[in-house]
Amino acid sequence: MSGPRVRFAPSPTGYFHVGSARTALFNWLVARHDARGVFILRVEDTDESRNREEWVEGIYSAMAWLGLAPDEGPFRQSDSKEAHQSAAGFLRQRGYLYYCDCTPAMVEERKGPGAPPGYDGFCRERGVERGEDTALRFRTPREGVTIVHDLIRGDVEFENRLIDDFVVVKSSGVVLYALANVTDDRHDRITHVIRGEEHLANAPKQMMLWSALSVATDDDVPLPQYAHLPLLVNEQRKKLSKRKDPVATESYRDQGYLPDAFVNYLALLGWSPRGAVEIVPLSTLIEEFRLEDVSHSPAFFDVKKLTHMNGEYIRALSREEFVRLSAPWLRPWSTPWQPSDREPPWREDQFNEATYERIAPFIQERVATFAEIPAMVEFFFLDEPRVDETGFAKVVTNDPLGRAVLKAAVEAFERLDAWDSSVLHETVAAIGEANGLALRKAQAPVRCAVTGTLVGPPLFESLEVLGRESTIQRLRDALARAA
Ligand code: GLU
Repeated sequence: MSGPRVRFAPSPTGYFHVGSARTALFNWLVARHDARGVFILRVEDTDESRNREEWVEGIYSAMAWLGLAPDEGPFRQSDSKEAHQSAAGFLRQRGYLYYCDCTPAMVEERKGPGAPPGYDGFCRERGVERGEDTALRFRTPREGVTIVHDLIRGDVEFENRLIDDFVVVKSSGVVLYALANVTDDRHDRITHVIRGEEHLANAPKQMMLWSALSVATDDDVPLPQYAHLPLLVNEQRKKLSKRKDPVATESYRDQGYLPDAFVNYLALLGWSPRGAVEIVPLSTLIEEFRLEDVSHSPAFFDVKKLTHMNGEYIRALSREEFVRLSAPWLRPWSTPWQPSDREPPWREDQFNEATYERIAPFIQERVATFAEIPAMVEFFFLDEPRVDETGFAKVVTNDPLGRAVLKAAVEAFERLDAWDSSVLHETVAAIGEANGLALRKAQAPVRCAVTGTLVGPPLFESLEVLGRESTIQRLRDALARAA
């Protein structure tokens, strides 16, 4: 017995949707779960009006980012056009297809208002000859039912009389998606068709085409098993919207989500491992994943949960990995890949890797994505900190005690023998005490003067790394601004 042969068959008509990423992952997991499994990538690029080459590239790079390498392919569906044509030829010769010269307007007129959608079968028995404006339609059975045995949904029954004689080859000669898809799946001996729920309604038509091809080509390729994955919905329980919801996988990469975290999160969209655990290592995903355990109810794509999970993955990195993996957001000029639209606010000559390495452990504790890092560390690298004016007014300009703390800090910092975080901590605490302020209150003007904002990495460690000279200079500058 051979193992499962699965394929991911995206159409390059836009950004790589998170739903597509989930479909790719579930296919890949089915292949990896079985040592003999094969994962195929087939780009369904036959709709020339909607495809773009950059989106094909987007599919490849997103899959590489997620670590979902195909065992066979990537194939391009457009390379198999001849096979699609010849499949259509076999079907026509055996009477499964018939020519039709109706225009949509003619069909509408015949059917009259309120009729069910779809073609009315007018040309089914007319014996229309092939002509310039003739499409080829599939002669669907008028009676009985087609049952899709879905591994996730169970048996889903479709009444054949409700399936119209759909177009298989357009009058232009272009073979449409349904037949191209089936021809390729047969060619690749696909055993499991795993895809989004929106394709469930295509399944009976594709099963009809499959069986017809088995007869017409005298090649009885066994029907694949179907598994239609649950819809992804947003917080309002509505289908994820391309316009309103953050659905582009690329943007998660740009924001600094880790591929492992992203894969882990995607795996939970419709599937859950045994026990209530959520952080599931890839090896466990591979071992435990089964299509039969996928739920059919819609799965909430929860960016907050994903972000939280990403923070956990970031904290689990070694210090070296954290520093290395954050480089594209900090020093993009020296990394092979750069996130788009995320230039750091400093110049190359202002950035200092050694400084970053010293502060990195504190940053690693605080961020959920890499893109959050530059704003947190920019005060180390910019000549002057960018100032949050409201915060500055509150704790320095409009607060005499705040200014008193700054003055005292300048004097005390100049006299310190050692410049380290614990001494700085004690010093600011003592200044606070002398002014009747708790440490938190005494820290605020110092932080705002030195870093420009009221929140950030731990203050005393930051001052230690920034150094005495810059720290005192910034305290002085702040006092001058507030005067
Ligand atoms: N090309 C189709 C899509 O991108 C997928 C079809 C399939 O998986 O059968 O939605």
